[in-house]
Amino acid sequence: MESRVQTVSSSASKASVRRLQNYVDGRFVGGAREFDDVNPADGSVIARVSEADRELVDAAVRAARRAVNGPWGKAGVRERAAMLNKIAEGIERRFEDFLAAEVADTGKPVSLARRLDIPRGTANFRTFADIIKTAGVEAYQTETADGRQALNYAVRKPVGVVGIVTPWNLPLLLLTWKAAPALACGNAVVVKPSEETPATATLLAEVMHEAGMPAGAFNLVHGFGPESAGEWLTTHPEVDAITFTGESKTGAAIMKACAPGVKPVSFELGGKNAAIVFADADFDAAVAGVAEAVFMNTGQVCLCAERVYVERAIFDKFVAALKQQAEAQVAGWPMEARTTLGPLISSAHRDKVMGYFKLAKEEGAKVVTGGGALKSGDARDQGFWVQPTILTGLEECARCVREEIFGPVAHVAPFDSEEQAIALANDTQYGLAASIWTSRLDRAHRVAQEMRTGITWVNSWFLRDLRTPFGGVGLSGIGREGGTHSLDFYSQLNNVCIKI
Ligand code: NAD
Repeated sequence: MESRVQTVSSSASKASVRRLQNYVDGRFVGGAREFDDVNPADGSVIARVSEADRELVDAAVRAARRAVNGPWGKAGVRERAAMLNKIAEGIERRFEDFLAAEVADTGKPVSLARRLDIPRGTANFRTFADIIKTAGVEAYQTETADGRQALNYAVRKPVGVVGIVTPWNLPLLLLTWKAAPALACGNAVVVKPSEETPATATLLAEVMHEAGMPAGAFNLVHGFGPESAGEWLTTHPEVDAITFTGESKTGAAIMKACAPGVKPVSFELGGKNAAIVFADADFDAAVAGVAEAVFMNTGQVCLCAERVYVERAIFDKFVAALKQQAEAQVAGWPMEARTTLGPLISSAHRDKVMGYFKLAKEEGAKVVTGGGALKSGDARDQGFWVQPTILTGLEECARCVREEIFGPVAHVAPFDSEEQAIALANDTQYGLAASIWTSRLDRAHRVAQEMRTGITWVNSWFLRDLRTPFGGVGLSGIGREGGTHSLDFYSQLNNVCIKI
């Protein structure tokens, strides 16, 4: 095959950079324009990306339709499952390529991408290969008015052409989380990854190609949101369903775009998640767990905790311990094994997070640690680094307590009772995740069940079983994906009723 990743000389940089293309109808194709793929660790241009124009997005959707009506749509469950497993093997075979591409695109620590992002890419395909093989349908026998019987059974069919739009924070993980179940159900997909992180999606297209995925079943279009590939995909009349992960306000725009066609949407959106730490918790475990929830991926995970509520009896001790954890973060080069904290994704996002640091001070926060840009005195100073930051003293109505910042920052506040902790945690328009730290079993169940969230962890954070429902309430999303919940979104049930 023609390799999709070529080394070319860039006008934007003296160094040689790769060129990333779109993948449509089984072929790698360029676009009318190109944009830069930037390494956030030092601001260097690492690739030039072909932007899909409206015609190319249209060609991708039409190719997907042909695939649904053709060999891929007609493939049996065993054949689809085998293909998914082959794709998992393909990712595994090129593990180091995926790893290097993800780290360069996102700036995340290599240790994190090695244990989380790339393995989850393969796990998503393997999990849905297994699930689709064992998925059953419901059946009912019904008594009819004339004393006979009717047999009802539901047939699971693909939805058709699924548009997938994904963000930059966990690029391969989140894209495959949607592409794998969509393909498992026999749909064809058109994927629009984030403009910030196009590399692993392009490698995945190569893996699809090498695995012999029928042309049109998996299509990749690069570009931006409004007036670019994102908008053209989500407004395309021939797309049957849209699945999206990203900001809540983008979700609202996509929902509006889908309304005229009454298209089903599945949305995994933003969060302003709470961690609740009771005085009876295992203190060291709670400190380590909350620190991970605040700083993992430089706070750029929808599930990260930006609001930490700590029982007053241990508040000062906990804040001091969390400060220590913040100051122990190692903001090294992303490919160094010792690095635990990377840069933010872009200069625009760095400016947004720095804006919240400034706002926090204006709103009366005490900055326990951090609160500024992070300087290293080398090429990283051209990148987008900020200090791990702990704040206290804000009112609950402060914008920094209410709005998603998406950086390595949390506000810590005291509480005096279980009821107050529940009320504080739930006082948000978001509702994605919560974590509760306690050694009391009754309290753990009681508080967990009161959380207005899609997922609640007790004495843990980010522990995921891919068969369980995942999603959010309020501004955090619509629907649930995971296990058979994903099958429910990516397939249609046709109930057949037979009088017997
Ligand atoms: P974003 O909404 O800016 O962009 C996400 C994707 O949508 C990108 O591919 C972008 O090009 C595209 N897009 C933007 N505007 C569009 C439009 N009008 N029409 C069609 N497509 C459009 O989000 P982001 O900044 O890339 O990601 C960060 C956000 O994602 C945070 O809010 C985070 O909480 C959220 N997130 C949620 C989950 C979850 O599972 N709930 C997981 C990861 C990230």
